Amino acid sequence: MTEASNSYVCITGASSGIGLESAKAFAHLGFNLILAARRQELLEELTREILEIYPNLDIVVKSTDLAIPDNAYRLYEDLKDYHISVWINNAGFGSYDSVADQSLEKIRTMLHLNIEALTILSTLYVRDYQDTEGAQLINISSRGGYMLVDKAVSYCATKFYVSAFTEGLALEMRHNYSKLQAKVLAPAATQTEFGQVATNSSTYDYDQHFKQYHTAEEMADFLIQLYQSDSVVGLVDVKDFSFHLSQPLFRH
Ligand code: NAP
Repeated sequence: MTEASNSYVCITGASSGIGLESAKAFAHLGFNLILAARRQELLEELTREILEIYPNLDIVVKSTDLAIPDNAYRLYEDLKDYHISVWINNAGFGSYDSVADQSLEKIRTMLHLNIEALTILSTLYVRDYQDTEGAQLINISSRGGYMLVDKAVSYCATKFYVSAFTEGLALEMRHNYSKLQAKVLAPAATQTEFGQVATNSSTYDYDQHFKQYHTAEEMADFLIQLYQSDSVVGLVDVKDFSFHLSQPLFRH
């Protein structure tokens, strides 16, 4: 048995893409899982798939809409009885449009999910686990959280928030000699449902829009590299799509 056998990894946005592949990757390391997203049937399908390979794991499914701030509090409260070694705020989406043309309803939901829910869940987790050996909070930002991308200004702004908040938290934890490690993953283009959601189009084709991109499985592997390192940032270089681990990048 590994040290992971009594511990849970909680992943928001585990019903598809990077979150789904990360759930499989942490199951492979022997962790029990808490999987959250809105689409319960997809979470249950993933649970069945993982349990076929790792029948001794415990997997908890939480169907919740985290764009509703009260649900973020409720989710955390519901999980009080579990020892959660790693909390991953991965649920998020983008919107590809100019500021003038963007749907304010969509942007409002994006702000609630990408910023508000992430801040609530990070804060509650840090409050409980700051002095717990081995505890990690990993927030999923984006390369768009370190550089601006055309027609994705509002999305990038939410991810700049995620990067700055998480890097700042990592520095705060070090300054306070806290045991919890805060880390940020910054993927570049990754083939998931992200493109469809960002463009409101079910036919979004990554090959048409990008010369190069990662698969969600590759991104989950980078996430594990970040988890197993002492680095704070895991970032994809958009020039050649290589993955790099580093200390915080923002000036402080
Ligand atoms: P994805 O396949 O669309 O997955 C997004 C996940 O978030 C899904 O599981 C979705 O599940 C969940 N989610 C969306 N709205 C939610 C809500 N209101 N409440 C709870 N869960 C919600 O996209 P992905 O690429 O894996 O995205 C994962 C993260 O990576 C996001 O934070 C994204 O910004 C970031 N990222 C992606 C890329 C990329 O190119 N793919 C690049 C940089 C960063 P339900 O629909 O079932 O709720």
